[in-house]
This record gives sequence, C-alpha cells and structure tokens, in this order.
Amino acid sequence: MSSRLAFYLLGPPRIERDSVPIKMDRRKAIALAAFLAVTGESQRRDSLVNLLWPEYDSSRGRAALRRTLHALRSTLGGDWLVVDRDQIGIDANIAPWVDVDRFHQHLATCETHGHPTSKICPTCVAPLTEAVALVRGDFLSGFSLKDSINFDDWQLFQAELLRRELSDALQRLIRWHGAQREFEPAVGYARRRLALDPLGEPAHCQLMRLYAWSGHRSAALRQYEECVVVLNDQLGVPPHRRRGGSRRPSCPPNTSPSSLPGPRPSSSKRSPSRCPSLSPARTNSPSWTGTWTRP
Ligand SMILES: [Zn+2]
Repeated sequence: MSSRLAFYLLGPPRIERDSVPIKMDRRKAIALAAFLAVTGESQRRDSLVNLLWPEYDSSRGRAALRRTLHALRSTLGGDWLVVDRDQIGIDANIAPWVDVDRFHQHLATCETHGHPTSKICPTCVAPLTEAVALVRGDFLSGFSLKDSINFDDWQLFQAELLRRELSDALQRLIRWHGAQREFEPAVGYARRRLALDPLGEPAHCQLMRLYAWSGHRSAALRQYEECVVVLNDQLGVPPHRRRGGSRRPSCPPNTSPSSLPGPRPSSSKRSPSRCPSLSPARTNSPSWTGTWTRP
C-alpha cells in the first residue's frame, strides 16, 4: 500500500506523509512542490526554471531544477510525479491531497444548487463550513523565495484570490448564522472576515451589528471605537464623512454607541433596516435575507 502525501498550503506550508510532517530544507523544493500541487498540471521544465530561477540562463536553470527535483523526490518519494525530458507533473492516479483543491471542491459543490454563488441555501452550510475550516492563514503564509519575483508574483496572486474566495464564503456563513440568530458562529466568522481586511469599514460595521444583536453591547462599543481608530489613524486617509462632516464609520445610525439596538431587534426605527441582508430572522420564514427563497 503506497503512502499518502498531503499538502497543507492554506497557511504556513506543511507537507505530510501518512499524517507525519516531512521536513524539507530546500525552499525551492517546497516552492516547486507547492506549484505542482496547486496547478495540478504538467509543467514545462523551461517554465519552471523561469518561475524559480528567473535570473539564470537556460542551462544553469535546468541544472538547478534537476538538483531541486532530485531533492524533492528524495524527500517525498517520486511516485506522485511524472517526469520526462521536457515536462514535470503530478500523476493523476496517485495525486496527493491538497487543501487548496479541497477548498475549491467545497465551494464548487455550492455552485450546483441553482442559486447565485453570492447566496446561501441550507445545503451550502456544511460545505462552506468545511471550506473555511481548511484555511489556517494566507496561502503559503510566512514562506517566500525572495530571489524569484516570478514565484513571488504567483504566490501573491494565489493568496489574493484565495483571500477573496474565503471572504465571500465567510460572508455567506455570517448571513446564514445571523439570520438563524446563531450569533456565536456568526461573530466568529465576522471576526475572521475582518481579519482578512482590518481596514474594511463594512466588516467592522458587520461585526458591530452582530455584537449588538447578540446583546454584547460593550463589545459592539469596543468594535465601534476600534473602527474609528482604524479610519482616523491607521488608514491614513479621511474616513467616510457623514453629513455634518463627522469622522465616523458609515455604519447605520442605529449601530452608533448612542443608539445601539438591544439584544433582539424590533420593528422600531432602531432596527438595522439599512442592512436588510444582515437582519436576523424575526420569524421562521426563510425570506430573511433575500439570499435564499424556498423553491
Ligand atoms: Zn446552496
């Protein structure tokens, strides 16, 4: 029975064989393994040289690639790779487990439900929950080659793409759990979403509202003040100016410290009517967010 490789790339990179982490000293070998695992396609040797050794000429680059490939196969074994004179790729029959692939498979599952990808239905909840649970941090967090701008660009592109996909998935889960009045998971996901973009005023406001709706008034107030600090100080640009020129977050007035709603929103004018997509369900009707309509 062959061993099983697993690539954990959604965070600091880690490679395991049969659940045992493998130590790899060569950073280029890690980069090569990650690139092959994520692309899942055979790559021309010249392309890999250009990716990992852009400053080398072809002959020197190919020699470096051979040494790195040898180190990679010595450490991980070679049965998962298909190698010939021109190309290097992953054997589709014994492909390793890759968290990036699994993440995308979970998201793709939700694309078969017949609703826009920005919406969420009850069947989406489990795969989206599993998808976001796979993410430990930014793509290849803490890893860089430094001497290869091409790999650096690819890594940054992948990281940004995955960050956006994670943010979208979190947003859908926040809407779902908020609408179900399941505020603990909603707040947890909202905190994760804010961490992806700490300068994002809407994410601050979203978390503020969830704290308020769940009865955590002091936490909502702290979030409000944190948002003000970010907008005024850390961002370095004037925050959204509301009428009258106040330098305050552009959250709905009902989420300002002086008028935070109580634990249970009511139909009064203090309810978060300006953010219907985040309004918790007031009845058992599934029409709460406008994001899903029962067929
Ligand atoms: Zn769905």
